[in-house]
Amino acid sequence: MGKLDKKMTGLPCPKCDRAIEVTYYDIFGKKEAKCKRCGSMYKFKPLDASHVKSAVSGLERAQEKLGDAIQKALKTADVQLKR
Ligand SMILES: [Zn+2]
Repeated sequence: MGKLDKKMTGLPCPKCDRAIEVTYYDIFGKKEAKCKRCGSMYKFKPLDASHVKSAVSGLERAQEKLGDAIQKALKTADVQLKR
């Protein structure tokens, strides 16, 4: 499991239109999202869930690359200390 699995997102309930708070893992792992208010739920298709999973993985890799790029920029930056 990656570090974005627990990231929350909000889906509109198909019945009452309130936000259903789910993690990315709920979508691609449990493959369902249930409204706490009215009990309506989405049951996701396996293929779509796997697309969400690979997109989350891509996002994790992109975040790592961004972190690395920022670290490199910090190391090579010209530093000006205010005195
Ligand atoms: Zn609802």
